[in-house]
Order: sequence, then C-alpha cells, then structure tokens
Amino acid sequence: MRSCLLLLASFASMFLIATIEAQRPDPTIGLLQRLADAPGPPGAEDAVRAIMVAELKGLSSVPLRYDGMGSVIAQEGTSGPRIMVDAHMDELGGIVRRVGPNGQLSMQMLGGWLDQALVDQRWIILGSKGPVHAVTGIRDIHVVTPAERTAVFPRESIFLDIGARTPAEAAAMGVEPGDPVVPDSPFTVMNGSDNYLGKAWDDRIGCAVLIEAMRRMAKTPHASQIFFVATTQEEIGLRGARTAANVVKPDLGLALEGGIANDQGGHAEETQAHLGGGPGIFLYDSSAIPNRKLVRFVRDTAKTQNIPLQLDLVQGYGDDSAEMQESGTGAPTLNIVTPVRYTHAHNGIVNRGDFDKTVDLMVALLTRLDQKTVDAIRDFTPAQ
Ligand SMILES: [Zn+2]
Repeated sequence: MRSCLLLLASFASMFLIATIEAQRPDPTIGLLQRLADAPGPPGAEDAVRAIMVAELKGLSSVPLRYDGMGSVIAQEGTSGPRIMVDAHMDELGGIVRRVGPNGQLSMQMLGGWLDQALVDQRWIILGSKGPVHAVTGIRDIHVVTPAERTAVFPRESIFLDIGARTPAEAAAMGVEPGDPVVPDSPFTVMNGSDNYLGKAWDDRIGCAVLIEAMRRMAKTPHASQIFFVATTQEEIGLRGARTAANVVKPDLGLALEGGIANDQGGHAEETQAHLGGGPGIFLYDSSAIPNRKLVRFVRDTAKTQNIPLQLDLVQGYGDDSAEMQESGTGAPTLNIVTPVRYTHAHNGIVNRGDFDKTVDLMVALLTRLDQKTVDAIRDFTPAQ
C-alpha cells in the first residue's frame, strides 16, 4: 500500500514537471520576438544593439568591442584562423524629413522600399519624448477618380499623420526632422503553427542565428577565433560591415541573412527558396560572387550533417559578405540565409525549422573551420 502511494506520488510529480515544462515559454520564441519588435532603422540601431550586447557579452572570450559606427564585436576563442560571422542589426525604415504647416510629416525612406508598401501602414517615430504612433493614410475610396483606384501612389505623395494639427503640436509630441521611423508590426506566432509573423526579419533572423550559434560554439571545441559581429547601416549600403571588417581583419567571412522565399506565386527564375526548406546559400547576388571552394565546403558539410540546403541566385540583393570579401587583401565569403517571405515590408514570415537548421549548419561549419581548412579555401595556387 505504502509503495503504491509512493508510486502514485512520483507519477503525480512527473506529471506536474511535464505540465510545467509544457507551459514554460520557449526562450527561442522570446528571443525572436524581442529582436523583431525592437526598433532599429539604419543609424538608430540602439534598441537592437542593447539586446545583442546583453546576449553576447557573457559568451565572449574577451570584452566586447565596437567599431566607430556602432557595430558590436564578440569573440569566441583567441587563436587560429580569424572567422567573421556577420549579421546586420538595422531594418528598413525612414527619417522624419519635414513638419508641414498642417502638422503632417514628410518622410525620407531608408533602404529598399516599394512605394506600394508605404500606404495605409502604422509606424513608430522614435521621438525625443518616446515612441510616437503614426499612420501613412490612404486616399478615400469615396472620392478617388477611377484611375486612382488601381494606381500606386509615389512616396513623395505620402505623409505621416500623428494626429497633430500644427507644427507646434508635433513639437509638443517630441517630433522633429531627423527622428527615426520604423514599421509598427508586432511579432505573432501564426495560428499555432511554426511560422512567425513580424517586421524586420531582414536581418533580425540573422541576429538570432548569430546569438544561438555563439551560445553553442562557446561549449563546442573549435580550432579558430570566431568573431560574432552585429553590424549597422547595411540597408543603406553595407556601411557597418565595412568598418567592422577593418577591425576584425577576417581570413574568412560568413554573412547571416534573410533569404527570399518564392513559394507565393513568383517567377521561378527570380529565386528558388521556399519556407520550411531549410537554410540556403547564395551562389550569386548583385553585391558578391562567393568563393567557390567555400561553397563546396558548405555544401559538403550540410550533406554529411543531413541538413537540407537551398541554393539560390538573386538579382537586386546586396549583403554584408561583399564588404568582408573586399576587406584587407580579400577574404573568401558566403551569404548564408534563413528564408523569409515578404522581406522589406511591414509583415514578413519565417519558419522555426529553418531557423533551427540554420543554427545547426553554422555550428557544423564553425566546428570544422580549422587552419588547414581555411588555408585550403584561401589557396589559389593552380593544381600541378
Ligand atoms: Zn539584410
């Protein structure tokens, strides 16, 4: 009887532990949510930088460093080839350009926006008194001409409405020219699925992969010094990666980015990746052609680890690998991506399985990149 009671008690406690485990929030979802929701247009990445510093400083072998443009440089290991792993902190956004006589604001866009993505959207202005809610309105159906019903409105015609009636009211809200503007688009787990909806997956998904890869590499033997670098101002010309690479002086560079999913009706020649298909690598984009030996190394590693790998070529796409590639006397680089649906817009979607597999791929690559492997990838001597 007594042993029966004991057994019952232990079953009950096991059930309790299982229930608590099931209810415990998933820390990875929490990290992705904090990164996606943080406001960080080019040049105003402060909120994202605060998250990156908090996550990376306890993992770094040496104190964190910064370049002169605000990039964060963490380091795992202090000897061996210099591997730079890069993700950019900034997102598409804008800057308040001018406060008009009626209290409306014109906006300078930052990064590659489509004009059609700008109307009827909520935005947050990072004003001097805190966040200010704004909306880019839309012409009212009841008054537009037939031609306007199907027209795309150019960005010059679009204004931020903050509910102010005069410049004085806008000033009282803490808004002035030069204030940063970001999409207002909170993170959501999509209907119990493993797809996550949010803004700024380009490149907060890369920032999250970088953090998780560093967390795992801190406990994994490796024969290199790995610089985990969160850069600034990528969306306006890869600017932070250039200055960060000057600090790191990489022997080899891997950029972590959002890829372009094409499973929603696009043309097959544009891009081939799809959500849920695993990480991808870029064999071409308009900023860089990757090192071919490095491509082979990554493909072989993915194959031996049974990690699915999507191959892509995307025109009209630039990434930080281009700046690492041209730094110093040149370095082999590659752009490694987690697919994103609807980049450069208020609402993007990423897949959790793709994220997890991208981290697995990074850990496998960084574990294998020793001096001999890096030397072989960097060797351009013709075969005898
Ligand atoms: Zn990007």
